[in-house]
Amino acid sequence: MDNPTPPVAAAAARCFDFDLIVLGAGIMGSCTAHAAASRGARVLLLERFDLLHGLGSSHGESRTFRDAYPDAWYPPMVRLPGRLWADAEAESGHRVLTAIPLLLMGPRSNASVLAAARNAGAEEVDDVSARWGGAFRLPDGWVAAVSDHGSGVLHTTEAVKMFQDLAVHKGAMVRDNAEVVEILKRPEGGIAVRTSTGEEFHSAKCVVTVGAWTSRLIKSAAGVELPLPIQPLHTLVLYWRIEPGREGELTAESGFPTFSSYCDPLYVYSMPSLERPGMIKINYHGGPPCDPDLVSGGGDVVERVARWIDEFMPGHVETAGGPVDRLACMYSMTPDEDFVIDFLGGEFGQDVVVGAGFSGHGFKMGPAVGMILAEMALDGETRTAAEAGVELGHFRINRFESNPLGNASKED
Ligand SMILES: Cc1cc2nc3c(=O)[nH]c(=O)nc-3n(C[C@H](O)[C@H](O)[C@H](O)COP(=O)(O)OP(=O)(O)OC[C@H]3O[C@@H](n4cnc5c(N)ncnc54)[C@H](O)[C@@H]3O)c2cc1C
Repeated sequence: MDNPTPPVAAAAARCFDFDLIVLGAGIMGSCTAHAAASRGARVLLLERFDLLHGLGSSHGESRTFRDAYPDAWYPPMVRLPGRLWADAEAESGHRVLTAIPLLLMGPRSNASVLAAARNAGAEEVDDVSARWGGAFRLPDGWVAAVSDHGSGVLHTTEAVKMFQDLAVHKGAMVRDNAEVVEILKRPEGGIAVRTSTGEEFHSAKCVVTVGAWTSRLIKSAAGVELPLPIQPLHTLVLYWRIEPGREGELTAESGFPTFSSYCDPLYVYSMPSLERPGMIKINYHGGPPCDPDLVSGGGDVVERVARWIDEFMPGHVETAGGPVDRLACMYSMTPDEDFVIDFLGGEFGQDVVVGAGFSGHGFKMGPAVGMILAEMALDGETRTAAEAGVELGHFRINRFESNPLGNASKED
C-alpha cells in the first residue's frame, strides 16, 4: 500500500515492550490500535471486560452514519472515515456500512436542523408524507430535508470486531479482562501501565479511550486533576413493533430513511427496520446521568419517545405496550457535546493522548478518530486531521478551564 508515513519504530522507542498501549477496546480504541499497527507500531490493546461486551457504548446492532451536522467542523471528520470505513471493509472482506437515505426534520425556526441540512447538502422536500406512504405527519411550520448521499447504517458489533481483527492481523496484541488501574510516567522515559491483577506493561506512548470511565480513570489511575467534564449517561436502545400490515413499508429495502427529528429539547432519531424484522428502532438522544459501574433505570426516555411516535408517526408504530425490546447503553457526554481529543499534558506531556467524550455521536467517526489519535501518539501531531480539514481546536481539554460549558454558551 502507498503509505508515505514512516514506520513508527524510532530507535529510542525500541527499549520499550510496546510503542503504544491503547486502553479500552470500544470502537475508538480498536480503531486506534488498527491505525497504529498498520504503521508497523508494536501495539497492546487492553480491555477491562470481555471483548465485544455490552457494558460500554460500542455494542448493539446499528448506528447511524450521517454527515448532516449543525456544526461545520464535523462533516469533514465524517467524510474522512467514509473512506476509511470503505478501506477497512475492502481489507477485511466484511460489509459493515449500508447506504440509506437520511431525512432531517424540525421546526423551521430551529437553527440546528437548517444548518445540518445545509452542511450535508440535503434538499428540502415539500411533502414528506407522500414520499414515504404517509408514515410521517409533520406539524405546520416544520421543514424536512433529504440527503441521498453520505448517510447509512453501521453494523455496530461487527464493525468493532472488524477493526480488532485487522489490528491483530497487523501484529497488535489484544488482552481482555485487563482492567488498567494505574498509568505512570517512568523516570527513565515512557509510560508504565498496571492492571488490577498486578501485571505491568511498558510503552513509549499511551492512548486512553475508556469511554464513560474517562474522567474517573484519568483521576484515579493517572492522578491528574483536570476539568474534564465527561458525564456518563444511561440511554436506551428501543425497538418498537411496526403496526401489522405496515412492516414492509418501513424497511431499508423499501427505501425508508434513517431520520433525525430536531424538536427542541427532544432530539429523536431512527433507522429503518433492518436488523429485526417487524420492528423499528426509534430512540431519544440523551438519558439520565449514571455511575458507569452501576447502570440502571433509564428515566423517562421510553415515555418521551412514545409521545413523539404518537404525534409524528401515528398509525405506523405501536406504542401502547411500550417498546418490544430495550437495551442499555451509555453516552459519555460533554457539556457542549463536542469530543475530547488532546494530549493529557502535565507530567505526561505528549506521552498520553485522550480520546473521549464522544457524546452519543462518535461511532461513525471511529476510524478517523483512531487515525488521529494514533498519529498524535506516535508522531506528536496529526497529518490526517490537517489534510482532511478537521479542526481539532474544538476538542481541546483546556476549553473547560475558562468555561465549564466548553464550546457551548449558556444560551445554547
Ligand atoms: C444507544 C446509543 C446510540 C448511539 N447512536 C450513535 C449513532 O447513531 N451514530 C454514532 O455515530 N454514534 C452513536 N452513538 C455513540 C457511539 O456509539 C459512541 O460515541 C462510541 O461507541 C464511543 O466509543 P468509545 O470507544 O469511546 O467507548 P466504549 O465503547 O465505551 O469503549 C470504552 C472501553 O474502555 C473499556 N475500559 C473502561 N475502563 C477501562 C480500564 N480501566 N481498563 C481497560 N479498559 C477499560 C470499557 O470496558 C470499554 O470497552 C450511540 C451510542 C449509544 C449508547
